[in-house]
Amino acid sequence: MSEEPSIFTKIVNREIPADIVAETDDLIAFRDIHPQAPVHLLVVPKTQQYHNVVELAARNPALMASMVALASQLADRYCGGEFRLVFNTGEAAGQTVFHVHAHVLGGGLDEGSLG
Ligand code: AMP
Repeated sequence: MSEEPSIFTKIVNREIPADIVAETDDLIAFRDIHPQAPVHLLVVPKTQQYHNVVELAARNPALMASMVALASQLADRYCGGEFRLVFNTGEAAGQTVFHVHAHVLGGGLDEGSLG
């Protein structure tokens, strides 16, 4: 891998701490450190080779589908099964970590909370 490890890769490798709520062979999920909703989780592929959801969907739709499935399972567990799934794509849209991740937001959302 030519890129520096992302902050999420460091979480996968237990190099920095996180409140991990689920882990599979391909994915990890943990609580966002700056929650924008009562439930705010991040679902992240362990690989950092996809920088955003557009790349992921084009190159590995099965992995994207597994992210949605895990988001749904976590929403069942933490917020009654109903949730907002947000993929910020590009700096101008608020993306700060260029290792694809889904924000799972739930539990009494305000209209304005977009992750
Ligand atoms: P985005 O702005 O869509 O790229 O989302 C990145 C998210 O990662 C933000 O909501 C941050 O609060 C979150 N974040 C950054 N560092 C950490 C960390 N060490 N643990 C948990 N969440 C983090």
